[in-house]
Formats: sequence, structure tokens, C-alpha cells
Amino acid sequence: MSRPARILIVEDEEAIREGLVDVLVFHKYQTDSAATGPAGLEKALTGKFDLILLDVMLPGMDGYEICNRIRAQDRNQPIIMLTAKTSDEEIVQGLKLGADDYVAKPFSIQQLVLRIEAVLRRSRMGVEQARTISLQGIEIDTENLKGRGGSEEIDFTKREVELLCYLAQHPDRPISREELLLKVWGYARNLDIETRTVDIHIAKLRRKIETDPKEPVNLITVRGAGYRLVTKA
Ligand code: CA
Repeated sequence: MSRPARILIVEDEEAIREGLVDVLVFHKYQTDSAATGPAGLEKALTGKFDLILLDVMLPGMDGYEICNRIRAQDRNQPIIMLTAKTSDEEIVQGLKLGADDYVAKPFSIQQLVLRIEAVLRRSRMGVEQARTISLQGIEIDTENLKGRGGSEEIDFTKREVELLCYLAQHPDRPISREELLLKVWGYARNLDIETRTVDIHIAKLRRKIETDPKEPVNLITVRGAGYRLVTKA
């Protein structure tokens, strides 16, 4: 039997923090929590958590800064941001900093638990994945999240590699944003903000894997159909 996943909750509102602890314990997770930014960062960097639930507005240091600092030390750490509202800007900012997902407040417990399960499942899948994706001008080591193009070494986030892996598994057809949301992010719904999530990640990826991101040769857009990854045999 696998051990229960350990989840860190960084949230300053006591009622939400304690509510989350109760719910997660009920779902058989082990939890720890912090009420301020600095305390959350300290625990995040030293505690070895399977997942961190990270509020944005926190005393001492905000969630973006914490996310940034965690990423600087560990690109693999799964993080779900708890955003105060479905503001595009907040969500985009969180995803740019490398959060794996976000949940907008007020959130339903059921929705949050599903997101947690999806992020944990993907992070376990990532551990089992070990291969190289070969593209024009770059080789990507999916295990170590690194790409090598010539003498240059490029770091990828876990989510970027998951996206590449899914596309690489289906080289024969374009993949729609909706399918990527479902298979890579685990979203069954399709809201505008969520399809933008895909576009943001595609744009970030192109800056890393294309010689000219405006004229992509590896990760191409198939008009009206989605995206396709052109892998080398
Ligand atoms: Ca807060």
C-alpha cells in the first residue's frame, strides 16, 4: 500500500485553513499548515510535501513570491494556487510562475479534491516516465526536465514536459485545446480562461524549443484543429 500523500496548506484565513485540514484528513491525506507567507515558505522548502496548496494574498510574503522561490529550488514540487477570484491576471500570473493548477475561491470541496487527485496522479505518472523527446534542434530529457539544443541547456517545468509527452504520444494527429485540458490538466469543463491556460503554456514552450517561436517547426498549430508536435523518428 502506498503511503498517504502529504499536503501543505498555506492560508492565512483561519476558517479556510482549518476547514481544508479537516477535509483533507477526512480524505486520508496527511497535512501540515502555515498561516503566513514566511512560515509557508520555510515549511515548503524543508518539509518534502507531495503537494502545496498556496493562497495568493498572505501576510509577510505573497503566494507568487513563495511559488517563485519554491520553483527556484525544486521545479517538480506540485503546487495548486488558491486565487481570491477568477481574475485572469491572477491565474495567468500563477501559471507563469509554474503553479500546476489553480482553484478560485470560493471553491467547492469536491472540485478541490478532484484537482488535488489529478495533480497527485500526474506527478506520480511523471516519476514513471523516462524517455527522450527528439525535436528539430533540441532533445528533451523528460525525466530530468532538461532540454539540450547544441551547447545550450534549457529547463522545463513538469507541466511543460507533460504537455510535450502527451503531444509526443500522438504524433499522427493535431490535439485540440479541449483534449489537452482534459488529458494533461484533468479539466472536464471548457472555460475561456482554461483554454487560455493551454495557449500560455504553448507560447512558453515555443520560446524554449523553437529557433523562431513565430515560425514554429516543432510545435505547430493546425488551424481549427489544435496543436501537433513534429517528433523525429
Ligand atoms: Ca489570504
